[in-house]
Amino acid sequence: GATMAKSKFEYVRDFEADDTCLAHCWVVVRLDGRNFHRFAEKHNFAKPNDSRALHLMTKCAQTVMEELEDIVIAYGQSDEYSFVFKRKTNWFKRRASKFMTHVASQFASSYVFYWRDYFEDQPLLYPPGFDGRVVVYPSNQTLKDYLSWRQADCHINNLYNTVFWALIQQSGLTPVQAQGRLQGTLAADKNEILFSEFNINYNNEPLMYRKGTVLIWQKVDEVMTKEIKLPTEMEGKKMAVTRTRTRPVPLHCDIIGDAFWKEHPEILD
Ligand code: ATP
Ligand code: ATP
Ligand code: MG
Ligand code: MG
Ligand code: MG
Ligand code: MG
Repeated sequence: GATMAKSKFEYVRDFEADDTCLAHCWVVVRLDGRNFHRFAEKHNFAKPNDSRALHLMTKCAQTVMEELEDIVIAYGQSDEYSFVFKRKTNWFKRRASKFMTHVASQFASSYVFYWRDYFEDQPLLYPPGFDGRVVVYPSNQTLKDYLSWRQADCHINNLYNTVFWALIQQSGLTPVQAQGRLQGTLAADKNEILFSEFNINYNNEPLMYRKGTVLIWQKVDEVMTKEIKLPTEMEGKKMAVTRTRTRPVPLHCDIIGDAFWKEHPEILD
């Protein structure tokens, strides 16, 4: 093909740093809401878990997976989501800044775009932002350990928050008193407080809160209406047609143990 004429300014391109992600490694992009402690307060999030906010986060993550290339699994909890690109991806020549900025901007614009679908009567008061980072993991084990780390974090925070907010909402403690009460307690102590003081069996709390959300590609049947045009009729006939599509499907399951990975070996292919 024809070579583009280069201006004498073109040399400045050489100042761009090479940020190619190491070949054959898993590329993970993790986003986290900027100052969502404040954002949650201003938008009246339910405590400890606002399910509208969690479902909106997952909708945004599904949009990211549908719009961008080569994401094989995503995991989200609280105000964060991690996206894993397949080992052999060559999207944007594996440039870290392209992965990170495309994920972050697609996610943030989706958060605003879909806000009303989840927060019907709660107006969006200011534009939210998300930070992003890229980490490459060299083996299946380190990738699985990364995801386990995020799910363990979800569990630890959620157990703490569940007791913390029960002490405030049901026992009338102030946040400072609730924090003092929980200082130095172990997981077993927190479970015990929940059970004896609030009659809550932590294991019966919703899975989405305890495990977070895993998104993987699965075949789903989708019913859509299609207009069938017949030569004899002016108006087309509306018909229900079922199509099988591959979509990012949310699961709230354990990903720390081996069972999940044995059930879905194709993810790590
Ligand atoms: P940073 O900008 O450093 O990330 P942050 O305020 O976002 O600051 P995080 O550690 O990311 O701090 O914590 C996110 C906070 O957002 C939680 O502590 C919680 O207060 C709030 N939050 C996020 N999602 C929800 C939710 N679904 N329901 C209730 N609160 C939530
Ligand atoms: P990529 O994803 O690689 O950036 P792209 O289609 O965005 O692909 P660019 O080189 O960034 O390619 O070019 C942006 C294109 O968007 C322009 O070529 C033009 O067609 C269109 N465009 C952007 N801004 C305007 C504008 N203000 N008015 C008309 N067209 C515009
Ligand atoms: Mg943070
Ligand atoms: Mg945050
Ligand atoms: Mg966070
Ligand atoms: Mg462009």
